[in-house]
Amino acid sequence: MTLYRAQAIDTPDDPFTGGVLRADADAGLLVEDGVIVERGGFADLRSRHRGADLVELPDGVLLPGLVDTHVHFPQVRVIGGLGMPLLEWLERCALPEEARLAEAGYAHAVAGEFVAGLLGAGTTTALVFGSHFAPAVDALFTAAAERGLRITSGLVVSDRMLRDDLHTSARCGYDEGRALAERWHGAGRSRYAVTPRFALSCSDDLLASCAQLHHELADSWFTSHINENLDEIATVGRLFGGGSYLDCYDRHDLVGRRTVLAHDVHPTDAELKRMAEAQASVAHCPTSNAALGSGMFPLNRHLAYGVHVALGTDVGAGTGFSLLKEGLQAYFLQRLRGPDGVALNAAHLLHLATAAGARALGLREQVGDLGVGRRFDAIWVRPRPGTPLDIGVRNSSGPEEALAKVFALATPHDIAQVWIDGEAVGLP
Ligand SMILES: [Zn+2]
Repeated sequence: MTLYRAQAIDTPDDPFTGGVLRADADAGLLVEDGVIVERGGFADLRSRHRGADLVELPDGVLLPGLVDTHVHFPQVRVIGGLGMPLLEWLERCALPEEARLAEAGYAHAVAGEFVAGLLGAGTTTALVFGSHFAPAVDALFTAAAERGLRITSGLVVSDRMLRDDLHTSARCGYDEGRALAERWHGAGRSRYAVTPRFALSCSDDLLASCAQLHHELADSWFTSHINENLDEIATVGRLFGGGSYLDCYDRHDLVGRRTVLAHDVHPTDAELKRMAEAQASVAHCPTSNAALGSGMFPLNRHLAYGVHVALGTDVGAGTGFSLLKEGLQAYFLQRLRGPDGVALNAAHLLHLATAAGARALGLREQVGDLGVGRRFDAIWVRPRPGTPLDIGVRNSSGPEEALAKVFALATPHDIAQVWIDGEAVGLP
């Protein structure tokens, strides 16, 4: 047993429905076999568990591990391609790089960089867009398993409108996906996600094969993109002969509670209503939306319809692996929406970056907060001495203010330690 002593902050109850921040200035967390078995004041726990190994985490804050619900494995090396809208960015930046993952050595190197990028930013759980190449997806699962990352991912499939070397067929996509799932779905912390790139690049035949695989694989996840860019949405409408973007997936029975759709910047009311009914989740990716000029995410409308929203970094259109930065960007964006914006505080941001993501991935019973019964997935944000973050946190009037400073100022350099299932993960 290990007893951790820290200032612990989390959001066990959803702040969007009245929950408040939970903060303990001198918390004790007792962890046994990777699970938090007791939480309370440190002095009390110490007096009752003298034999437990003690880990003291002075300064800074202990937060739940961050949960990224939308991030692209093959795009580590194209972060920072600025000045283009979505379809041009895909053609010039993302797709040429994705094609390079056909080469096994290249894919292996990128997989290592990708997993290190997530862990270094404090991300302990992720729903990851894989590669168009099965051996590359295998390399990703292997790298994640070696480092202990909690990952849900799969083969990305498309059969039109990209480039020939990224296209597959319904039959081949199904067979390769099935083989990957047999190897990785439910193995350790890995799970499989059926992943058509987006409706624009997928025929109905291909989406039907995705549906077959998703429905055959118990507890598999389904993820794709939706309503990101106005030109993209217009093209999808033309290709599928009218109907909404969501219909492209929904008519194949791909919209349910194990569905996570990225972006949804320009939804119709009917789509929001249907997503809420189906209990599907949306991955909001604010730095990507800003970098590509995709639009201003209507969080107010998602909340009004009861659509569940979590955060994604959308690397490489997003500008890095830090969900703290995404939280801050989500905050900025809502401020800029004026009367249509949702006033977000630090508790909302932490919730979006942790518990909301865990819920979107069906992992809320295991992770997302630091309560009794959860796996000990946690990060220690320890500001470097003398930095504005260090000064800000030390001079905060309370935990909410300290947390706001973490979102405003912390970078991956301030993540001093990461644990998954109670195991310390080596950081780069
Ligand atoms: Zn994406």
